[in-house]
Amino acid sequence: MNKYDAIIIGGGHNGLTSAAYLAKAGKKVLVLERRHLVGGAAVTEEIYPGFKYSVCSYVVSLLRPEVIRELELPKYDLEIIPLDSTFSPLPDGNYLARWGDHAKTRREIARHSITDADAYEQYGQLMVQMAMAVKPLLGTIPPKPTSWNPKELFGLASVGNHFRRLGEKLLYDLTKLMTMSSADFLDEWFETEVLKATMSAIRSWGFARGGMGTISRVIADAARHFGAEIRTSAAVDYVLIKNGRAYGVVLDSGEEIHANIVVSGVDPKRTFLKMVDSGHLGAEFVQQVSNFKIRGSSAKVNLSLDTLPDFTCLPGNGPHLAGAISISPSIDYIERAYDDAKYGDFSRRPYLDIIIPSTLDPSMAPPGKHVMSIFVQYAPYHLKNGTWLERREELGDTVIDTLSAYAPNIKDIVLHRQVITPWDLEQEFGLTEGNIFQGELTLDQLFFLRPVPGWAKYRTPIKNLYMCGACTHPGGGVMAASGRLAALEILKD
Ligand SMILES: Cc1cc2nc3c(=O)[nH]c(=O)nc-3n(C[C@H](O)[C@H](O)[C@H](O)COP(=O)(O)OP(=O)(O)OC[C@H]3O[C@@H](n4cnc5c(N)ncnc54)[C@H](O)[C@@H]3O)c2cc1C
Repeated sequence: MNKYDAIIIGGGHNGLTSAAYLAKAGKKVLVLERRHLVGGAAVTEEIYPGFKYSVCSYVVSLLRPEVIRELELPKYDLEIIPLDSTFSPLPDGNYLARWGDHAKTRREIARHSITDADAYEQYGQLMVQMAMAVKPLLGTIPPKPTSWNPKELFGLASVGNHFRRLGEKLLYDLTKLMTMSSADFLDEWFETEVLKATMSAIRSWGFARGGMGTISRVIADAARHFGAEIRTSAAVDYVLIKNGRAYGVVLDSGEEIHANIVVSGVDPKRTFLKMVDSGHLGAEFVQQVSNFKIRGSSAKVNLSLDTLPDFTCLPGNGPHLAGAISISPSIDYIERAYDDAKYGDFSRRPYLDIIIPSTLDPSMAPPGKHVMSIFVQYAPYHLKNGTWLERREELGDTVIDTLSAYAPNIKDIVLHRQVITPWDLEQEFGLTEGNIFQGELTLDQLFFLRPVPGWAKYRTPIKNLYMCGACTHPGGGVMAASGRLAALEILKD
């Protein structure tokens, strides 16, 4: 039997990243991916001929520069196109736009409120400082706060020192940002409802040429370049464990593959409650994993369009169609959208985050045609009435109706529609309960608490079984940070 140094369960971009780093270090690595293609939630698929969808994730924000550099990703044709603008149409025929040009944005905000235009400058500076303050943590392996091991104490001291160096004002602002609701935080800064609502999603985003699948593809190319083997349509059924040590996996097909270590790129519920015999785990750990919060609340609608949408408030083609388009007229609108989901239904008037990738990269659609990506908030995994199979198209209709209030031609220009509910995210992409981040990104599930307290260092109670997916620090998003940090930690053992 072919034996490997490491088997990676799941070819999501984090699994691929771990594979690339381990292979680069000279290890013999095998990636096993359940689907017919790698990438997990970062894939591009041609669902309808000629129309390419970034099926799940759609914008790049925090992809780690160290991963780009260390794996030499530009060598494999990685190109990120900046998404410069945000455009939020309003029901009264007005709109708010933010452009790449700072002075133009200032004038635009001043059209709504001069006070907010002034505050926006300061707020922008603060957000840059906040990003700088948080960034180092994305590349830090969480220290164990209860350990007396000098290395852990040093790690803790470094984190403490980092925050202390921010200075009093910035530290307090950061704490407020982390602990307050975004609505409350933004209330302290602005009065324009649509500005607050649009800014409640913090953005500094780009679009990967070829869609999000390009990111997974280039990482997979790098992994192969370093010698990793990648198998698709290879679902892992369970992890082989003897005397508390993992030594391989068994596939759905019954095939057994052995390795010195196994690295899971899937969430803890899937890993420990499905792929590991609970007899190998302590009751307390099983309880912690069962308690891990992984409730999905998002859906995705991907459209093939005959032509571009025409917004009543800003008719025709223009730069507003080449950035992020947000249907979020007010904080109240977003809260109402959430209320529906809280009580087991999808939002009657959802908050939509839209991009039209073909305006940035014409190769995404046939000549003259377009693709539209719509991220939909909120759609709970558990519905009060009916099933997602029964109600999937009703969600699609709700999204189109919502959008048509701002761009009335939308109903006439849709050629194809793909509606992905939280249930589909689970069934097709292996995202338990449809949670887009393999587990909620709440304070109680971050840093040394992710995925569960005591096990934040990519290791698990089973010797030689590790974790590397978005369920580990620093969490969800196409960052490749978890995959890298996990590999660095594994290479220490
Ligand atoms: C709808 C949606 C929109 C999003 N939008 C954005 C965005 O715009 N920007 C952003 O940065 N992030 C976004 N995200 C989040 C981001 O895509 C994820 O956090 C990230 O892709 C997770 O990567 P991962 O490699 O950790 O895990 P995953 O992508 O979950 O990969 C896990 C892999 O494991 C495979 N797998 C599961 N079970 C098995 C098994 N038994 N055997 C073998 N393989 C298995 C799965 O098929 C999958 O390929 C979005 C996510 C979704 C779902």
